[in-house]
Amino acid sequence: MDCLFCRIIAGEIPSNKVYEDESMLAFHDINPEAPVHVLVIPKTHIPSMDGVSAENSACVAKIFEKIPHIARLAGITNGYRVISNCGEDAAQSVQHLHFHILGGKKLPEHIV
Ligand code: AMP
Ligand code: ZN
Repeated sequence: MDCLFCRIIAGEIPSNKVYEDESMLAFHDINPEAPVHVLVIPKTHIPSMDGVSAENSACVAKIFEKIPHIARLAGITNGYRVISNCGEDAAQSVQHLHFHILGGKKLPEHIV
């Protein structure tokens, strides 16, 4: 298994967990870009948003259903941004689908 996030799910690499259930894991980003920076990943290995399909999108829906709860658990009270980098032009660095939740401060200017 050479996927970093699959190894985190398997417990082979430690993480600072925020939330876990049968279909997802949420943990603090090791290199936070905001006071609260959590990553939410499906337990199924999907390489990126490009790999989301009718067959596996249920786990993505579950993640989005749970994001408000995860944001609250992480201490966010005044809004947040959700980002998923997909592919080279977006500088995706870990090839396992993940959603960044950023909050805890007024976030810098956004591009959209
Ligand atoms: P991306 O650049 O969108 O692919 O995001 C990958 C994120 O994973 C980056 O924000 C990294 O800081 C984060 N990251 C890499 N390794 C770890 C790790 N072992 N634990 C927590 N976060 C990590
Ligand atoms: Zn993986």
